[in-house]
Amino acid sequence: MNTYTENTKNIPISKDVDVLVCGGGPAGVGAAIRAGRMGMSTLVIEAFDCLGGVATSGMMSHWTGHSSSKILDEITDRCFEKCKVLGWAEENKCGKEKINQEVLKIVLDEMAKEAGVETLFYTLVCEAVVENGRVIGVIIQNKSGRSMIKAKCVIDATGDGDIAASAGVPFYKGRESDGKMQPCTIMFKIGGVDYSRAVFPGSFETKVQTEKGELQAMAKKLLPFPAGHVLLYSQTTPGTVCCNMTNCIDVDATNADSLTKGLKVCRSQIEPIIKFLKEFVPGYEKCWLMSSASLLGIRETRHFEGIQTLEAEDILDAKFFDNWVVRRAFFNFDVHNMTGASLDATGIQHNWTQPKDYTIPYGCLLPKKIEGLLLSGRNISGSHLAHSNFRVMPIAIALGEAAGTAAALAVKEHIPLRSVDVKRIQNIVGE
Ligand SMILES: Cc1cc2nc3c(=O)[nH]c(=O)nc-3n(C[C@H](O)[C@H](O)[C@H](O)COP(=O)(O)OP(=O)(O)OC[C@H]3O[C@@H](n4cnc5c(N)ncnc54)[C@H](O)[C@@H]3O)c2cc1C
Repeated sequence: MNTYTENTKNIPISKDVDVLVCGGGPAGVGAAIRAGRMGMSTLVIEAFDCLGGVATSGMMSHWTGHSSSKILDEITDRCFEKCKVLGWAEENKCGKEKINQEVLKIVLDEMAKEAGVETLFYTLVCEAVVENGRVIGVIIQNKSGRSMIKAKCVIDATGDGDIAASAGVPFYKGRESDGKMQPCTIMFKIGGVDYSRAVFPGSFETKVQTEKGELQAMAKKLLPFPAGHVLLYSQTTPGTVCCNMTNCIDVDATNADSLTKGLKVCRSQIEPIIKFLKEFVPGYEKCWLMSSASLLGIRETRHFEGIQTLEAEDILDAKFFDNWVVRRAFFNFDVHNMTGASLDATGIQHNWTQPKDYTIPYGCLLPKKIEGLLLSGRNISGSHLAHSNFRVMPIAIALGEAAGTAAALAVKEHIPLRSVDVKRIQNIVGE
């Protein structure tokens, strides 16, 4: 590869904070609100224009799975209340199960502000600054230019682990056997759906027989590969539906060219999908495209080496870790097909049913080799299969809450992150 030597120059230190949260998705929100409430000067940096990550910029339809997060409960309660003012009055699940993305954006802004959290939007965290094996801050780039932010503790909630990777935490990408990563999806919304007749197939296994044929089978045959399944979610406004139907395989979201390809492929599928819905799906005959997500939905990228790594067996056995920082985590093993549409061909979702809630230990948030940095959300240390389960938003928020608590305790007591007494984290995040 040709190279160019960029001029070395002095850049300003634009802020100096106790806790710096990189990425404002569900994990970043949980981390920042908790650290702020514990009296830390806290800054959350987000590349897009709002908090929420995939939940808002990614246009996500609903919360799936659950966890012990108190902040999650607060978020959904507050969204429910605000939906009474800003949402459609007749809808009674708004904010609780279903997400109204515009309401959620406002609620998260309010909660961050109340916790004293400072937010910086439209800002890319470029890399970690590491001295003597410790992250002491990050380099950012935004409209003001390039600067450094100093922090006593940095939390990587970027989903892809951009900060941990640049700090030198060892990682691999995707499935252990072949490096393949779960497909990506751009969510989009349609209006004009007749709810009195509409069907809402919410899983790959939901088969819907119509006069023209079975929907999943027809989608597989008629939609442009690798699209080919029907996932439709009712929304909180009349006649609108959220579609989780675009699909692109072989995308590495840590590579800008690959990410762009993924986005273009998914966007090109929207028109054929809408034509399909109009022609074959009852209630969708008059549907029309409302909007698509600004953030391409990425399911999987890097898996980091942590002091501990969560394995699928830990989830299957519902192992109780004494050093738990997340409790009552629950979802299923959700591996999408990496060679086409629908579910993974190995049938993992069918064969490995999760018996009960599981715990996640603190060691999964502590990266190997590097101090001053915590992993959070979908980029904690976990295997490909375990990740397919803990990546959902309610668990990501709980992981953020745990990271924010640990960071605040370490900063208050002037101790390394790995010396934080886990019992104290448990007392704060536990039931
Ligand atoms: C298509 C799709 C459907 C899904 N469906 C559901 C569902 O129905 N229910 C459910 O609960 N979960 C669902 N999930 C899973 C869930 O949405 C994510 O795994 C979860 O949002 C992870 O949270 P996070 O905070 O770790 O990461 P993210 O939500 O990805 O948030 C990361 C944030 O960091 C920002 N960021 C990234 N890099 C940088 C950087 N370098 N500088 C600054 N900012 C940066 C991003 O803009 C983003 O806002 C779905 C995921 C996808 C992709």
